[in-house]
Amino acid sequence: MAKQFDVIVAGIGSMGSAACYCLSKQGANVLGIEQFDIPHDQGSHAGQSRIIRKAYFEHPDYVPLLHRAYENWATIERETSTQLYFETGLYYAGTTENELIKGTKLAAEQHQIQLDNIAATGHTKTKNFVVPNHYEQWLEPKAGFITPERAILAFAQEAIRHGATLLTQQRVAHWKKKNGLFEVETNAGVFSSKKLIVSGGAWSSQLLPKLNTQLKVTRQVIAWLNPKKWDDFTLDNFPCWLIADDQLPGAFYGFPIMPAGKLGGPLGLKLAYHHPGKPSDPNKVDRINTQNEVLLLLQAAQKFLPNALGDILSVKTCLYTYSPDEHFIIDTHPDDNDLIIAAGFSGHGFKFASVVGEILGELATTGKTNQPIDFLRLKRFNN
Ligand SMILES: Cc1cc2nc3c(=O)[nH]c(=O)nc-3n(C[C@H](O)[C@H](O)[C@H](O)COP(=O)(O)OP(=O)(O)OC[C@H]3O[C@@H](n4cnc5c(N)ncnc54)[C@H](O)[C@@H]3O)c2cc1C
Repeated sequence: MAKQFDVIVAGIGSMGSAACYCLSKQGANVLGIEQFDIPHDQGSHAGQSRIIRKAYFEHPDYVPLLHRAYENWATIERETSTQLYFETGLYYAGTTENELIKGTKLAAEQHQIQLDNIAATGHTKTKNFVVPNHYEQWLEPKAGFITPERAILAFAQEAIRHGATLLTQQRVAHWKKKNGLFEVETNAGVFSSKKLIVSGGAWSSQLLPKLNTQLKVTRQVIAWLNPKKWDDFTLDNFPCWLIADDQLPGAFYGFPIMPAGKLGGPLGLKLAYHHPGKPSDPNKVDRINTQNEVLLLLQAAQKFLPNALGDILSVKTCLYTYSPDEHFIIDTHPDDNDLIIAAGFSGHGFKFASVVGEILGELATTGKTNQPIDFLRLKRFNN
């Protein structure tokens, strides 16, 4: 096998698979290296579904990237004849002062994104939600979820079709720059390239020891329930949702039930809590002692979706990688323009994978990107 490449991508998960696809489509000679399989359930992309929305409460500056992400998802769907985006609508609830509601309305207003006020319009899909009277309730109709495992498979398949080499079960142990080339060492050998993209998810700190900022990895627990009224919660009858409980930080969120056989993966009604879980070493994650987190999810279901309560069908643990300000890090390294970093996706990155792959490809081939990523660059941590 050839050992010299234009670009090596370290980590073929959400962002790395998209980068391999974009680069190989443009004719670059790409090597992608993944320590597990493609996809797998040890990192950040497992669990059947990831919410995608445009009224972005985290910051309105993400909205232009989201417009491009939606376009790019449609392109890869067309190219692979595979449905990756499911438009279910997204229900939001919380107090007027809560960041979720304030930020969602702000982004929608600044970027003319449709948000329907449930109190004014009503909506049959939202009839099972029970929230206090003082909560605002909104529905973003052009939102839904992306299927992460299928999306990563689609990117990897197209990358291979366009000539990329993807290696699995190989861990990048070290890399260094020598005579203008990166030398990347795995358990199977040493490979070299002109450019290196590091997209290692929860392992990024280990791959980037000289980063000018800290990344924190937390474990996040997701549960799938057998709801009392199954048919009320199926794909066609129930939206994705985000509810900010005024007694707790963060937000609870969930998805409709996927039909058996449609996507594989756990059966039932998925729900989770978007808030930092227990700090974890990605190589030693406790995936067993999850009772407290599951109890919290059951309490949220009891409070906001009483008809969804039922036996637990499945529990899984996934990893968030937080940057200090919970915004992504997408940049070339300040000391080396040939080293490109995609890290710190802080529990909200998957929906962007289709545009992040494009940006990483542009940074690797031209050193710049047309996408507005200034607010995501590393310089914000220099003080
Ligand atoms: C429970 C949960 C729910 C989420 N919900 C949403 C949501 O609703 N919407 C949303 O947009 N986002 C959501 N996210 C966040 C989103 O999934 C992540 O931001 C995204 O998957 C991060 O992508 P990544 O490429 O950085 O990491 P990953 O997809 O984990 O990819 C990193 C890859 O690098 C590999 N790797 C690391 N080190 C090495 C090495 N040394 N050698 C070789 N390979 C290596 C890893 O094995 C892994 O495959 C959620 C995350 C979790 C955990």
